[in-house]
Parts: sequence; C-alpha cells; structure tokens
Amino acid sequence: MSEHAPSHDANCIFCKIIAKQIPSKAVYEDEQVYAFHDIHPWAPVHFLLIPKAHIPSMAQVGPEHAALMGHMMALVPKLAMEQGCNPYPDGGYRLVTNTGAEGGQEVHHLHFHVMGGPRPWLRG
Ligand code: AMP
Ligand code: ZN
Repeated sequence: MSEHAPSHDANCIFCKIIAKQIPSKAVYEDEQVYAFHDIHPWAPVHFLLIPKAHIPSMAQVGPEHAALMGHMMALVPKLAMEQGCNPYPDGGYRLVTNTGAEGGQEVHHLHFHVMGGPRPWLRG
C-alpha cells in the first residue's frame, strides 16, 4: 500500500462499522482502533480488533505500522479478560488473523479475532 493510500474505503464493511453507518456492539474504541463483537461468534467470547485506518490485511503491514501493531497486541490481553476470557494458563484465548483467500480472509480490512471462554466452541 502506498503512503498515499486512503485511510478509508467507502465500500468496506468494517470502515462502515467504524463510521457507525453499520451498527455493531462495541468492546473498545480509541483514536487508532475499534473492537466489536463478531456477528457470528465461534466461541463464548469472540470479538474483532481492527485499526481505524483501512489496511486490507496483514500482507500490507510494514515497519510504518509497528507502533499501531504494538498498540493492538498490547490491548488484546486486557480486552480478552474484560470480555470474559478465563485467565492463563487454564483459560486463555485464540488470536487469529486470516490473510488472503488461502488464509481464509473474507473481510478485507485487517482484523484480529479474539476467541475464548469455556469449551466446546461452535468452531475453532
Ligand atoms: P475473516 O474470515 O477473518 O475475514 O472474518 C470476518 C469476520 O467478520 C467473520 O467472523 C464475520 O462473522 C465477521 N463479520 C462480518 N460482518 C460483520 C458485522 N457486520 N459485524 C460483526 N462482525 C461481522
Ligand atoms: Zn476498511
């Protein structure tokens, strides 16, 4: 992605969620990121953490995103516990980022799935 790439994509469902044009159940929000409940949860806890900037996938992430990625990774443990994941090591959670068609990515706005809670899960 060029440094002049637009930070929002008018056709992107997650950009529309960030803009509140599509409703979502918020988990967390700040200037850089938004987290919300997955509409089809696989696990008792299943939320998505996304950058507000439209980055299509991990394939576009580079050194210029290091601070943003660090911010997002540092939020995961805090948000996971707040949302009801059980403590490590008996509890825990899965952190999943599907990338590209062969990676199973369906929505092309970078997102981290955080899934946890007591098993069995619907999937995963
Ligand atoms: P992926 O296959 O990694 O691209 O996952 C996309 C995820 O977005 C799936 O788990 C969907 O259930 C979820 N999703 C799609 N649309 C919405 C929406 N409007 N609100 C919340 N989650 C959504
Ligand atoms: Zn987007």
